[in-house]
Amino acid sequence: MAMVDVTVMGAGAFGLSVAWACAKRGAKVRVIDPGGVGAGSSGGLVGALAPHTPENWNVKKAFQFESLIMAEGWWAEVEAAGRVSAGYGRTGRIQPVKDERALELAQARAESAKELWQGKAQWQVVARDSLGDWAPESPTGWLIHDTLSGRMFPRRACASLAAALRAKDCEIVEEGAQRGKVIWATGWQGLLDLSEDMGKPVGNGVKGQAALLRLDQSSAPQLFADAVHIVPHADGTVAIGSTSEREFDDPSSTDAQLDDVLARAYAAVPALKGAEVIERWAGVRPRAKSRAPMLGKHPTKDGAFIANGGFKIGFGMGPKAGEVMADLVLEGRDEIPEAFRPEASL
Ligand SMILES: Cc1cc2nc3c(=O)[nH]c(=O)nc-3n(C[C@H](O)[C@H](O)[C@H](O)COP(=O)(O)OP(=O)(O)OC[C@H]3O[C@@H](n4cnc5c(N)ncnc54)[C@H](O)[C@@H]3O)c2cc1C
Repeated sequence: MAMVDVTVMGAGAFGLSVAWACAKRGAKVRVIDPGGVGAGSSGGLVGALAPHTPENWNVKKAFQFESLIMAEGWWAEVEAAGRVSAGYGRTGRIQPVKDERALELAQARAESAKELWQGKAQWQVVARDSLGDWAPESPTGWLIHDTLSGRMFPRRACASLAAALRAKDCEIVEEGAQRGKVIWATGWQGLLDLSEDMGKPVGNGVKGQAALLRLDQSSAPQLFADAVHIVPHADGTVAIGSTSEREFDDPSSTDAQLDDVLARAYAAVPALKGAEVIERWAGVRPRAKSRAPMLGKHPTKDGAFIANGGFKIGFGMGPKAGEVMADLVLEGRDEIPEAFRPEASL
């Protein structure tokens, strides 16, 4: 590539989203990742794009809401540019309602969603009987159905972004020189490096294990039951996740903790029983100390920027995180919420 305006270190959800937001504005982008595209936590298979509850609204919830609303157009544009599917669909989500107190809360949230979600999506309480076999068991007979949640297949979403970038004459390489504006999107390893530079912990990795089943529910909503995400994908598979492990020796192994997640999923949704498990996968989520994304000027690398801390919702936050980073890096326009600045973790 003759000229490079922006170099992005790291080809995961955050790095590729920032790279794409920059490329759409005409920048020539070089993405460098020694592991290749989706080598980190973004190379997984769960892909729930699910909202925070519609109550106690704050900047973080509003940012995520905007990102989820943007997602449909964003992924359509990515897929059209590179002609590789990300498996995106705004298929909604269903959750059981465990008792009377939860039912009251769900009904109150249905009301608050009308205002907070601006008529762009609904949070409804519906009778379980109306939803057929796919509906999870629910002690009250009621379920929450939201129409804001979407899904995509993480590993394919990375390939889709990579293809879109290449179609815009950007490059993705395993090694190369850093040119132009440099953005560090290096996931949990990046947070450990930063902690070392700062001489104090500013973030860490939280391992997650997940599984993929062969079961065609491709247009059904995702389920969230007994703290397990059950996400039907467009290709006739269903993802189930995840564990959350702060202590781990091997970042990529799976073990009995995943069996426990699967057992909880089978108990909640009998329709899953008997489906073949075709993959078991593990990755490490980047968690900033503040638990929020870490976006902005890099705290220790002069003139550079950082996009990290996607933690459990990196794909959900990707579109909006990419855009605000491109605003800052290319146009000097800083619209990053205070809570998302690196300082919040320092
Ligand atoms: C089991 C599991 C389930 C999940 N489920 C969901 C979900 O349902 N919905 C959701 O939104 N999110 C989910 N997540 C979280 C999501 O995957 C992460 O938030 C997201 O992948 C973070 O993206 P990233 O680009 O910051 O990090 P990564 O994907 O880890 O990318 C960092 C990249 O940087 C590279 N790198 C490291 N050091 C360097 C260096 N020095 N130079 C260049 N490159 C470097 C690595 O090779 C890696 O490719 C899940 C995560 C896990 C593990």
